[in-house]
Amino acid sequence: MTSWPSDAPSSLWRQLSAESFDAEPLTREIACDVAVVGGGISGLATAIELARRGKSVALLEAARIGAGASGRANGQVIPALTRHGPNAIRALWPGESGERFLRMVAGGADVLFGLVERYGIDCDARRTGWLQPAHTPGRAKRVAALASQWAAVGAPTSALSAAEMRQHTGAEGYQGGWRHAGGGHINPYAFTLGLARGASDEGVAVFEHSPALSLRRDTFGWRVQTPSGTVRAAHVVLATAAHTGTLWPELRRSIVPVTSYQAATEPLGAAAEAILPFDEALSDTRMDLRYLRKDRDGRIVSGGALTIQAGAERRLPQLVQSRLQAMFPALPSGPMPHVWGGRIAMTVDRLPRLHRRPDGLSAWIGCNGRGLALCCAMAAVMADAVEGRPDAELALPPSAPRAVPLHPLAVRSARLILPWYRLKDRREI
Ligand SMILES: Cc1cc2nc3c(=O)[nH]c(=O)nc-3n(C[C@H](O)[C@H](O)[C@H](O)COP(=O)(O)OP(=O)(O)OC[C@H]3O[C@@H](n4cnc5c(N)ncnc54)[C@H](O)[C@@H]3O)c2cc1C
Repeated sequence: MTSWPSDAPSSLWRQLSAESFDAEPLTREIACDVAVVGGGISGLATAIELARRGKSVALLEAARIGAGASGRANGQVIPALTRHGPNAIRALWPGESGERFLRMVAGGADVLFGLVERYGIDCDARRTGWLQPAHTPGRAKRVAALASQWAAVGAPTSALSAAEMRQHTGAEGYQGGWRHAGGGHINPYAFTLGLARGASDEGVAVFEHSPALSLRRDTFGWRVQTPSGTVRAAHVVLATAAHTGTLWPELRRSIVPVTSYQAATEPLGAAAEAILPFDEALSDTRMDLRYLRKDRDGRIVSGGALTIQAGAERRLPQLVQSRLQAMFPALPSGPMPHVWGGRIAMTVDRLPRLHRRPDGLSAWIGCNGRGLALCCAMAAVMADAVEGRPDAELALPPSAPRAVPLHPLAVRSARLILPWYRLKDRREI
């Protein structure tokens, strides 16, 4: 079943956004080199890259720009992978192929902040660093090793002791961790809208309320059908992430979409000063992740997942509030007036995938919750793929989409894994 996101009216980011963007639906037949489907960061950054390489590009968004995960994220800019460190990547892809992939991932924040600068995007971008505090001594050792592996790739990373982590976070209980000075945070909705403006300025024809309903090939290439128009293009790029429908059924079956929620406090005034005093972003080492950052007005924006989704607007703030108070005992408990959710595309091994068919259909998928920087870095890889660069030279080795085993069951039961994650987090040493 295909479902497009609505506009997340309760998202704090939407309310704070200084950027705006509106586009008309497609109501005629147009022809271009590349049709990009999906108006999140991935589709927009790819469209911009292709346009700058001289291609004519049309971008179709089913709902509004930023309605998907891109407008709903926590906004942490993290130029590292969810699970794999450099050594694990080298074991998977030895030689230049792994090194190229690592350089691409490590460069993601440079690309993102570069786009902010190039298009003057007003998204409260703060390149203040990203922290991964370790919740156990064992994890502290593992992430200290990660920090030195990423440093060897050229990333500005360092391990932090427990005392240093306390200084950086203001939180109790962490055993150490690592810091990536290249990371930071943004208002992801404003960033996405700013990218849409940048794409239009580069000549991309952007259409909202224009779902791609079908893809068909004829002798002239692809015909992408929307409710009231058609795009004819030599290449199609799907950038539909967790909202991927039946346009490419194998792609949809290659990921599990997982819902994650966000909640934000009121501005905390002086009480915010002791929390993340250097204004970094934080995601810890738990499998049931704790993560937070502050916004420009001193609100804490955090989130989590729920096993049972009914009543999420009431229960999620309670969960977030109790976790924040465990981390920051002096934090006054107060209302969390902003609650919203979004969908993340997860792969079984937590690695992104690039797919390219000889008939001109391409996609990458599987941000695994860390897509803001990666979507920006992958734009050049997608453009390389469209331009026909050989597989061996692409920064993410392409593969054919592989269905997640027992996909319908995996989708329905994804949330049931949370209690297991929590148990593992508690038992870990
Ligand atoms: C709650 C939450 C918190 C997150 N926090 C972070 C974070 O702090 N840091 C981080 O790095 N990552 C984070 N992520 C992940 C990050 O948001 C995503 O990786 C990233 O935004 C994915 O961008 P995208 O463009 O690939 O997909 P999306 O932004 O989801 O865009 C896909 C778009 O495709 C459109 N679409 C789908 N089907 C069609 C169709 N047939 N025709 C036309 N359009 C279609 C959808 O409407 C949607 O707008 C978070 C995600 C969520 C949900």
